[in-house]
Amino acid sequence: MEPLDRATIWPYRLAEPGELYYQRYAHPNGVAAEAKLAELEGGEVLLFPSGAGATTALVLGLLEPGQTIALAEGGYYGTGVLFETLERWGVRHVEFDQTGPPPDGVDLVWLEAPSNPFLTMPDLETAVASPARVVVDSTAATPVYLRPLDAGADFVLHSATKYLGGHHDVLLGAVACRSAEDAERLREFRGRTGIVAAPDPCWLLSRSLKTLGVRMERHTASATELAERLRAHPAVELVRYPGFGGLLSFDVDGAETARKVEISLRTIKNATSLGGVESVLESRARWEGTRVPPGLLRLSVGLEDVDELWADLEQALA
Ligand code: PLP
Repeated sequence: MEPLDRATIWPYRLAEPGELYYQRYAHPNGVAAEAKLAELEGGEVLLFPSGAGATTALVLGLLEPGQTIALAEGGYYGTGVLFETLERWGVRHVEFDQTGPPPDGVDLVWLEAPSNPFLTMPDLETAVASPARVVVDSTAATPVYLRPLDAGADFVLHSATKYLGGHHDVLLGAVACRSAEDAERLREFRGRTGIVAAPDPCWLLSRSLKTLGVRMERHTASATELAERLRAHPAVELVRYPGFGGLLSFDVDGAETARKVEISLRTIKNATSLGGVESVLESRARWEGTRVPPGLLRLSVGLEDVDELWADLEQALA
């Protein structure tokens, strides 16, 4: 590992600033982590202090007041709420079904692969053929399963808090850019606004990327197995799982049963978020209200023994 460097300034040489001179513009652990993720995504990467920070920077850094975003419905609830907040600055958004074509006349198409918590996959081919620019929030897919830039997307966004960080100890966001001009514009916006990731989480991200491939393989194997077993369970009405990755959701018969499952779990933590080595489950209605079925439970399958996870789910569903 490269050393952790928390310096905020680096001396000029012969009165000339070098590549590193002030942490808000660039720092060694940020540059190192960005280079590693850039290799995985196939485009220049910029890190931000959270996924929401990355979303804010993308929208405010690239759009003009009066422009419109087409947002995939059923995606991360916080993204829609954030776009509502940003409407004060004149950026509008409309929701659409990402499994079909985006609406006409929009300036940016915002997809999620797969959507959280409905687990739909976008029709990326159709979206990139539209005149609007395309962002893919690929948080749940990770570059192990999807490289949206190769498929023609303009930007990839990650809540690196999830699988990229992978241990529930890093809050970070990332944007990978198809074009060098977009990356430069975003870099300048980031430096001016100060929406900048600190060295410590960047160092942790570099550590985590070493195991991303093997973690995703295990997440997928266990989630595939649990999705199959949940589908056969009499208390489970519906399972949503795209066939890869560690995120799935399933429905029980209402809010009461969902609450009973939450409080009965022993191995699986009743907590929010996803993408970590430890399994977490929660009812999403507590945050999303009527947008989700009252019995929808989101499960992020961790790296624990799959039979131990199943035993925990079985006793909680009994
Ligand atoms: N995108 C997706 C798909 C998410 O699940 C989340 C967080 O839950 C975010 C973006 C926002 O990321 P962060 O919590 O790192 O700000």
